[in-house]
Amino acid sequence: MSKVKKELLKTARGTRDIWGDEILIWDKIRTVAEELAKFYGFKKIETPHFEHAELFGASLGETTDIVEKQMYIFRTRGGDSLVLRPEGTVPSVRAYFENGMASLPQPVMLYYSGSFFRHESPQKGRFREFGQFGLEILGEDLAVADATVIRIAGLIFKELGLETVLELNTIGDKECRPAYRRELVIYYRKHFNYLCKDCKRRLKENPLRLVDCKEESCLNLKKNAPQMIEYVCDECKNHFKDVLDFMDALEISYRLNPHLVRGLDYYTRTVFEFAVDATEQDRPASPDARSDSETRQASQGRRVELGGGGRYDYLAQILASKDLPAVGVSLGIDRIAELLKERGGNFSGEAAKVFLIQLGEAAKKKSLKLLEEFRKAGIPLAQSLSKDSIRGQLKIAAKLGASYSLIIGQKEAMDGTIIIRDMDSGSQEALPVGKVIERIKLKVKMR
Ligand SMILES: [Zn+2]
Ligand SMILES: [Zn+2]
Repeated sequence: MSKVKKELLKTARGTRDIWGDEILIWDKIRTVAEELAKFYGFKKIETPHFEHAELFGASLGETTDIVEKQMYIFRTRGGDSLVLRPEGTVPSVRAYFENGMASLPQPVMLYYSGSFFRHESPQKGRFREFGQFGLEILGEDLAVADATVIRIAGLIFKELGLETVLELNTIGDKECRPAYRRELVIYYRKHFNYLCKDCKRRLKENPLRLVDCKEESCLNLKKNAPQMIEYVCDECKNHFKDVLDFMDALEISYRLNPHLVRGLDYYTRTVFEFAVDATEQDRPASPDARSDSETRQASQGRRVELGGGGRYDYLAQILASKDLPAVGVSLGIDRIAELLKERGGNFSGEAAKVFLIQLGEAAKKKSLKLLEEFRKAGIPLAQSLSKDSIRGQLKIAAKLGASYSLIIGQKEAMDGTIIIRDMDSGSQEALPVGKVIERIKLKVKMR
């Protein structure tokens, strides 16, 4: 018999098992997000984990990091080139057209939740398989759509107890961006020698990405780089103004970040990011985090991005040669979970107040039936079907903080009774098994 090598008994680099307390946090995040999305009228969509590789090439931009370096592309035996989905917006737009959603009342509002894959160097909160939750509003060009996805993402963070900072910018459209692009090229050409290797190449292919570079020398150049807001056309300016008006009306605080561009080519007009400052825990959250450089200066510690998005009015043009104004947001579950874990708190929900103890074969069979009756009655019942000694089982009950234990021994199994033990006082009473749910309901209520 051949055995699996020891080092292969580990998850692949950049992946891990999520279980125990951690999965409870994940479940909590996903439940909060899904419930808010559903309440606001979003419908769930699940798209395949792999898609045709070409789908992402043109739409994300051939020179973006994702397409250049991070996609998991593989060839099938039939010769198709497929890719593990690196993000959720492109598949949503593909699904919109493939499933004829254009004939539904517009806009179409979708949400998704699942695993995505990018070949990046793993670091804290960054994995090669990562969880993402996203909202997409397809078929709406008004600023109310931008405001809606921002609003709901903000509510999700709030519901999870996270004080996030929202940064906003506009990156214009095909009318006004070329002029900005030209200015950027002129500016960066003057400082060409200080650019990092990647940016020297990007300058030709995609100068907008230069302001997004995280290399130190490029960050320095960014400070004096031209800003998009000075070049936007009237229509883009009005759209952005509308978005900001909604922010004020909804009392959502934000900072303007003139250098926020997001990494992907398909974005137009509004782009935004949600982040927490790692120092945030140490100081009270500012009641008005709005937009002056002073606040921004004060908070330049470790900034952890938790989500972001933007408008992508041209994506449908690239994918399907159709007009479909749209906007979306995605949240990084790994980082949110990491943060919640660091902050502690109880995510296990309400612990069962009642613990079921059984002794012997006949009692085991009875208790399985009883468990189902408790489930139907909506009373959480903890148990340990494998432990045999009563002492061992009582210990577990105490450890779980159960208020009552139900005991079925051999005698009780025979005559159809059950014992209720008050875990605090140790007092016990026996009663017919058919009456136990009613009695427990009353006792739990009275506590
Ligand atoms: Zn650079
Ligand atoms: Zn414009």
